[in-house]
Amino acid sequence: MTNLYDIAAAIRRSESILICGHIMPDGDCLGSVLALGLSLEAMSKKVVMAGPDPIPAIYEFLPGVERFKTGAPPDGVYDTFIILDCSVPERLGRDYQDLLTSKKVIINIDHHAGPGILGTYCYIDTAAAAVGEIIFDLLKLMQVSIPVETAINLYTAIVTDTGSFQYDNVTPGTHRRIAELLEFGAPGAQINILLHEEKPKAALVLLREALHTLTMSPCGKVCWMTVTLEMLKNTGALDEHTEGLVNYCRSIRGVEVGLLFREILEGTYKVSLRSKNIVDVNMLAVQFGGGGHAKAAGCILQGALREVQDKVTREAVLATGGTA
Ligand code: 5GP
Ligand code: MN
Repeated sequence: MTNLYDIAAAIRRSESILICGHIMPDGDCLGSVLALGLSLEAMSKKVVMAGPDPIPAIYEFLPGVERFKTGAPPDGVYDTFIILDCSVPERLGRDYQDLLTSKKVIINIDHHAGPGILGTYCYIDTAAAAVGEIIFDLLKLMQVSIPVETAINLYTAIVTDTGSFQYDNVTPGTHRRIAELLEFGAPGAQINILLHEEKPKAALVLLREALHTLTMSPCGKVCWMTVTLEMLKNTGALDEHTEGLVNYCRSIRGVEVGLLFREILEGTYKVSLRSKNIVDVNMLAVQFGGGGHAKAAGCILQGALREVQDKVTREAVLATGGTA
C-alpha cells in the first residue's frame, strides 16, 4: 500500500487538483476536503474542492465552505484527483465515478474497511478515527503550517467522526492531534455549540415522530426506528436532521445493534447501522451491498418498508447470536 510520503511527493508534483469526498457529506468529509484544499492553495496549487450533494446547514460555519462546489464535477483541467473519506466508487456519485476512468493521478485517502478506490495512490488506515487525522499527519509531514481555518476544519472532522470523542476509534493519538489543533486556535467549545446546539425546531419534531416508530426485536438486542418521506414532509425537517437518530436506538440498555431505516426515494431505504459491543455492522452492511466501519455502517435497499426491515433486522438478530 502507498504511504503518506508517496502521497506527499505526488501532491508536490501536481499543479491542478480536484479534491472531493462522498455523497451526503458529513463533518469528516467536508472538514478533510477543506483542510487539505486550503493548505494546497497556500502552496500555490490550483485547487477545486467539490462533491455531488448539498452541504448540510450545520457545516456552513466551516472556513472555506463557500468555495466548495456541489453538483456535477466542475469543468476544468486537473492533473490530480484526490478522493477523501470514500471507500467505494458508488459513494462518489455517478458523475464523479466517471472521473475514475480519466488519465489523471488518482489519490484515495480513507479510513473505511475494504479495498478502497484503487487509483494511482491508495492510503487506507482503518485505525484512524477520521480522515481528518490522516490529513493532519499529511500536512505535518509536508511541513505545511496549520492556520486557524485549517485547525477548525480538522477539529470538526475528528469531533464528528468520533461522536465527540465517545467512540472506540478514539486513541491517545486522537487526543494529541486535537490538543495541537486547540493550540493552533480551533475554538473547541464554540464548534461543538455550532454542531449540536443550533438545530431548527423541525429537527426535534422529527425526533418526536421517529421515536413513535421505535421497535425492539423480541430478544431485546436489536432496536430500530423509521423515517419516511412523509414524516420529513409533515415535520418540515430535512435529510440532514436524521443524523444521529440511530444513536437513540443503540442507547437502550441491552441493545447491541441500532438501526435507522430512512426512506430516501419512494421504495428506497438508506439503513444506518450502529453496534455497541459485539457485532461487526460493517459485515452486516456488506451483506446488503453497503459498508463502513465495525461500529458504524450503512447500506441502501429497495423494496417495501416491511420487507426491507424484515431482511435487515433478521440478519442483525442472527449477528447478535439470537435466533430470528
Ligand atoms: P451513516 O449511517 O452515518 O450514513 O454511515 C455510517 C458509516 O457507514 C459511514 O462511515 C459511511 O461512510 C458508511 N456508509 C454509509 N452508507 C454506506 C453505503 O451505502 N455504502 C458503504 N460502502 N458505506 C456506507
Ligand atoms: Mn470518515
